[in-house]
Amino acid sequence: MKRLTGIGASRGVAIGKVHFIDNVVKRVECDTVVDTVLEMERFEEARLKAIEMLEELHQKAKNTVGPEESIIFEIHQLLLRDNDYVNSVHELIAKSHYSAAYAAQQTGERFAQMFSAMEDAYLRERSADMIDISSRVVRLLQGEAAYDVSQIKGQIIIAAKDLLPSETIQLDRDRVLGFVTSGGSQVSHSSILARTMGIPSVIGLGDQLAELVDGDMIVLDGFNGVLIANPPDKLLKDYHCKQAEYQLYRERLQTLKGVPSRTQDGVEIEIYGNIGHPSDVDSVLANDGQGVGLFRTEFLYMEYGGIPSEQTQFEAYRSVLERMNGRRVVVRTLDLGADKAAPGISLPAEENPALGYRALRICLKEQALFKTQLRALLRAALYGHLAIMFPMVISLDEIRQAKELVEVCREELEQEGIPYGDMELGIMIETPAAALLSDLFAPEVDFFSIGTNDLTQYTLAVDRMNMKVGDLYDPRNPAVLRLVQIAAESARRHGIWCGVCGESAADRRLTEHYLRMGVTELSVTPASILEMREKVLSINLSTEKEHFMSRV
Ligand code: PEP
Ligand code: MG
Repeated sequence: MKRLTGIGASRGVAIGKVHFIDNVVKRVECDTVVDTVLEMERFEEARLKAIEMLEELHQKAKNTVGPEESIIFEIHQLLLRDNDYVNSVHELIAKSHYSAAYAAQQTGERFAQMFSAMEDAYLRERSADMIDISSRVVRLLQGEAAYDVSQIKGQIIIAAKDLLPSETIQLDRDRVLGFVTSGGSQVSHSSILARTMGIPSVIGLGDQLAELVDGDMIVLDGFNGVLIANPPDKLLKDYHCKQAEYQLYRERLQTLKGVPSRTQDGVEIEIYGNIGHPSDVDSVLANDGQGVGLFRTEFLYMEYGGIPSEQTQFEAYRSVLERMNGRRVVVRTLDLGADKAAPGISLPAEENPALGYRALRICLKEQALFKTQLRALLRAALYGHLAIMFPMVISLDEIRQAKELVEVCREELEQEGIPYGDMELGIMIETPAAALLSDLFAPEVDFFSIGTNDLTQYTLAVDRMNMKVGDLYDPRNPAVLRLVQIAAESARRHGIWCGVCGESAADRRLTEHYLRMGVTELSVTPASILEMREKVLSINLSTEKEHFMSRV
């Protein structure tokens, strides 16, 4: 028996024979050409063919895993149409006389490097997308077919250096029991797709993967990121049980659709979904989310490559509100800066961006930028139940200034005869200052939503992006929990609602503590909504429990 440890990227257990695939694109040697015009034509032909293939994949993904996940293949097409990308390849062919394949490879690698140096974890992962699209073009130019994962025979667990998103989407769920890779990351599109498709996977195994031999019997434990090769009978039996239990659990979750999220003693909890794009509403609805608890609006600015107009923003907010059909939608106003960059808005480099010019601080200075968003929101409020919240608040003065600007926008719309609606106004509690002053803030707003991602970073002085201190980053640290408790208590005393929208809202170990503190709304990634409902249904708040905080 051999035990290998990696990262569990997609939950579940797979038991079967491992099969290594060689999907690595061979590197192109530096090669020069004389006829650069012909070479550019060859590149163009390959690029257009690649776009066509990606559109086919996009349609296939839409039908098999849904519109939200299929967007990645639209993004791949956009990357291939990007002027900077195309010009870079053209220039390498024209000026350096490189072959089309070598120029495409060089450009792909340069862009991938650029993405991998970015601070934002999501954008860093776009580096893998760049490699995916440039490999496609290089393969076409070399007349090679892409590795065809759909042709895999038998029921196996795939082992590879890495899997591209376009390969993962083509895995046949009936034949591929799971996959393991030496590389990869939890936030890569391959991992996201694996989770949506329900294919268990363990990634990041590094050199350990070489310890396996094709045909080895393995147990893949996607819960714990563990691989066991040639397991003894007893262990195999345990894992078969675990697999069956998880299957039953998944089936049970499906039966919870339409069931109120109520504790055993009758306390109603709202379980909402976090979204970053209007199309994410599909998965909130598919998982029976009772609302949207955090709509991160930065996507508008990132996609648009500049400041989107009032009309563009209005249409995006309206579409979400209309589709949520009267259920509450909490839109967070612009939270740029720190780890969130937008290509069209240049922010000066700062030594400590997390402590610098970001979020509401930018909005209160760049009032035209903020007012465009507020006007769009006020107009969209006519189409559903809208709540807006301001990020990174630290003072009463900021809340009052932000509310004042909402008032100014309301008056402007009134004078211009443009219809607008009512909305709730709230703040995120994501700085220690906001939690500690929450008793002063509560009378000013309709709700609090606790952003435990930043609250943890600022309370513990641990950079949420720095893997070196990742082990210190813990939303369950008593210091963070005390601040959550203070905010929830202030909300309760002033009769406003209080939710949690950071990642810890989906941490089942914290659910009961949050509810006992008085939190009544949890906003989580849509895929976790039913699991959280199941958890809430198991809790009884009327039983006397030793209070969690008394132990800290
Ligand atoms: C948070 O800080 O907890 C939060 C939800 O916001 P973001 O992760 O977008 O900073
Ligand atoms: Mg935050």
